[in-house]
Amino acid sequence: MAALIVIALIAGAGYLVSLRIHPLRRCPVCKMTGRHFGSVYKGSYRKCRACGGTGRKDRLGVKVFFGGTNDTGIYR
Ligand SMILES: [Zn+2]
Repeated sequence: MAALIVIALIAGAGYLVSLRIHPLRRCPVCKMTGRHFGSVYKGSYRKCRACGGTGRKDRLGVKVFFGGTNDTGIYR
């Protein structure tokens, strides 16, 4: 049982380190293009609303454990 707890702690610490190194994931809406294309006029597009046109989104753990980076990937 103690071994399980140790493994869980190591995995948790590794996850936190991973969040610090790679705080962002790609935007699930625009797939990191930052654009949302129209369905009728193929050349028309607007900025993706989910990520503000950056294509970047904070990972869930970044928001939960570090208060988020406002989708910039920069910790303050
Ligand atoms: Zn997006």
